[in-house]
Amino acid sequence: MPYVLCQRHGTHAAPLLCSHLCNAVTNREPLPEAFCVEAWYHAYPLGVRYLCPGCAQIMGVATNRTVWRDEDAMDRLTDLRDLGTVCPRCFDEAQQSETL
Ligand SMILES: [Zn+2]
Ligand SMILES: [Zn+2]
Repeated sequence: MPYVLCQRHGTHAAPLLCSHLCNAVTNREPLPEAFCVEAWYHAYPLGVRYLCPGCAQIMGVATNRTVWRDEDAMDRLTDLRDLGTVCPRCFDEAQQSETL
């Protein structure tokens, strides 16, 4: 798992986000809805990714918290390019400020 060093929150294990969500968090812009995708290869967790509505649509993700458990999960995960990392606390804050 990658780590980020945040000037406000210190060092944290970093979630992987699509570039659009990354930019929004980094620039402190209003965050679009974040679709959480969880991928598994058999019993082995491949991790969680967060996608903006546009990327979610491209990947066929229609609901927030989608779980990929089929044989194609690994392939689809590697299809996700342009992912970046942000501080998880900043990401939380961005998501919360959106719902307030
Ligand atoms: Zn995106
Ligand atoms: Zn932070």
